[in-house]
Amino acid sequence: KRVGYAIVGLGHLALEELMPAFAQCKKSKVVALVSGSPEKMLKVARQYGINEKSCYSYATYDRLKDNPEVQVIYIVLPNSMHAEYTIRGAKAGKHILCEKPMANSAAECQAMIDACRKANRKLMVAYRIQYEPYNRLVRDMVRSNQFGRTKTIEAVNVQNSDNPAHWRFKKALAGGGALPDIGLYCLNTLRYLTGEEPTEVFAYQSSTPGDPRFKEVEEMVSWQMRFPSGIITNCLTHYGVHETRRYRVMAERGWIGLDPGFSYSGLKMEVAFAEKKAERREAVSLPDVNQFAAEIDHMSECVLTDRVPFTPGEEGLQDQRIMEAIYKSAKTGRPVKVPSAVKATRGK
Ligand code: NAD
Repeated sequence: KRVGYAIVGLGHLALEELMPAFAQCKKSKVVALVSGSPEKMLKVARQYGINEKSCYSYATYDRLKDNPEVQVIYIVLPNSMHAEYTIRGAKAGKHILCEKPMANSAAECQAMIDACRKANRKLMVAYRIQYEPYNRLVRDMVRSNQFGRTKTIEAVNVQNSDNPAHWRFKKALAGGGALPDIGLYCLNTLRYLTGEEPTEVFAYQSSTPGDPRFKEVEEMVSWQMRFPSGIITNCLTHYGVHETRRYRVMAERGWIGLDPGFSYSGLKMEVAFAEKKAERREAVSLPDVNQFAAEIDHMSECVLTDRVPFTPGEEGLQDQRIMEAIYKSAKTGRPVKVPSAVKATRGK
């Protein structure tokens, strides 16, 4: 039996990626929609065979509690709305799958965790990369010291974002600029690969003066993280340069690279073995899977078998706390200690 989802917010991600991804899911189906635009919603409902009675507005959202077909609410709204719709959704008795970044502050993340715990509902942050086979393979290679000890990792997630009128450039809606939107992938992928929590960060932040996109949010952040094993990582995120989405794990006897590593599809992996005279490079090829379908089916599996998701709310909270430390470091020009991790009961 498939787990029923309500999709909240019918914007770019929901329509271009998530709705089509459900066709690849084995345990999940969309049974309800929530949108501020009734015409758009009806069109989508017809296209995907969703009952018109299961179409809600933001005002009637709470009535989802009377719809037993809906087990999970997938929140795909602007970042500032994640907390409110998670909390209302949990109160309506539904499990929550929430898009990244989880919210705009650690306090909001904590309130979301508390609301879901109180309602005895599951809360998962939609970190698609952590359900994707290439990134999982890199994690396994790093954790098993395949190339000896990892000493450093460099991660870059940059793009040229246009349309200054979009909510992504409004601080109240987006929470920040490149960092919470795409820099977040560098941050949580490195935590995921190493299995360690950074203890200290140091950051630079800047925006091109006069660029209308960056009146409220930052254009770029470059930061370093220090991990307990001694690994120091370099990360870069940017909203004003041509796209690059890659990382390289550098270890004693080789490196592992994904380029791209954070894209929706078409990931490419290369490894380099240090050999006596030269290095030997090898491409590693895995079947491409739909990351969104893998992530959604994981949530369904957790609901069906009553398990904790692999990326529970505590993961989103920890990333938010680290981002707050990164902004503080950029502002003060000093390294900032990261509060020790909220011990997440991360599922498998
Ligand atoms: P979008 O602007 O395309 O869609 C947002 C939707 O929210 C729109 O349908 C809009 O009408 C609706 N909305 C409701 N109230 C709004 C308000 N007050 N202001 C603006 N829009 C409002 O954005 P998107 O790219 O689909 O992003 C939605 C969420 O998904 C964000 O949290 C984003 O970070 C996340 N996202 C995740 C990924 C990923 O790879 N996991 C990729 C893209 C976006």
